[in-house]
Amino acid sequence: MKTYVRALTLTNLDLNFFKKEQEEWYTLLFSLLPNFTLMEKMSMAVDLKRKLYHTFVPADLIQEDIVPVKNRNAAPCTRWGCKWPKYGPDVIVPYQISATYNEIQVSRITAVLMDIEEKTCVKFVPREEHQDFLYIFSGSGCWSYVGRIGKQQPLSLKVYYCLNRRIIQHEILHALGFHHEHSRSDRDAFVKIQWNNIIDGKTINFSKFNTINHNISYDYNSVMQYRNTAFSKNGAPTIIANDDAKRVLGTAQSMSDIDYARVNRLYECLTLTDMKPLRNHGEIRIY
Ligand SMILES: [Zn+2]
Repeated sequence: MKTYVRALTLTNLDLNFFKKEQEEWYTLLFSLLPNFTLMEKMSMAVDLKRKLYHTFVPADLIQEDIVPVKNRNAAPCTRWGCKWPKYGPDVIVPYQISATYNEIQVSRITAVLMDIEEKTCVKFVPREEHQDFLYIFSGSGCWSYVGRIGKQQPLSLKVYYCLNRRIIQHEILHALGFHHEHSRSDRDAFVKIQWNNIIDGKTINFSKFNTINHNISYDYNSVMQYRNTAFSKNGAPTIIANDDAKRVLGTAQSMSDIDYARVNRLYECLTLTDMKPLRNHGEIRIY
């Protein structure tokens, strides 16, 4: 029996916020359920909050960024159905933005969508009769499913917290079908995970997935790359680059050329970005 998981995502910062928000639930659960693990309590806190406030926090959020989903793996699902549909040369991603955002907040989101449209063949269209669509709303932190899951697909960008270019791009890339860079199938050739420095119970965030990499090399400058000290319990690095232990990771402020190229490669867009040689960490690689 195969086990399938679908990733949800939260940045380090988001996770801290998420935790803070859940503090009252933790206090309650910790006092009532001393024998449960932190993760079990967290799961219960999320579920309790969802029930009480009818938020869009997925009911089955069991850890900070993994949700079990029946019958599907994550990025490999792009092979058999979690890509967004293509009509002619365009990939159509219908979306709806929650009415709770103000005009400036909406424009921050749409600016990112327009950037991606400009450099790829993905077109974001306001949802009309579309059955499958992204529903961008202000939920608990910043998170997204990986790939298209069908029907109204929540993507959370919490106001005053997630509405910067880097985070919006990061979550949209998840929705288009991409994992974190350090979760790539070939990551061990590029980074070394420092397991001893990871907060107890958080190692799941460093899982490796059987991703499809389309001959596009690992990108230290990807907006999908975690920081060196993500989920560190002692301030020491949890991820180190193989080629240079001092290389600073996860500081990209926006999508790299390679991030755009991988969208074009996955969706078979024919664009200049995809055909140009890709510069990666001082080397020029042509695919
Ligand atoms: Zn993420």
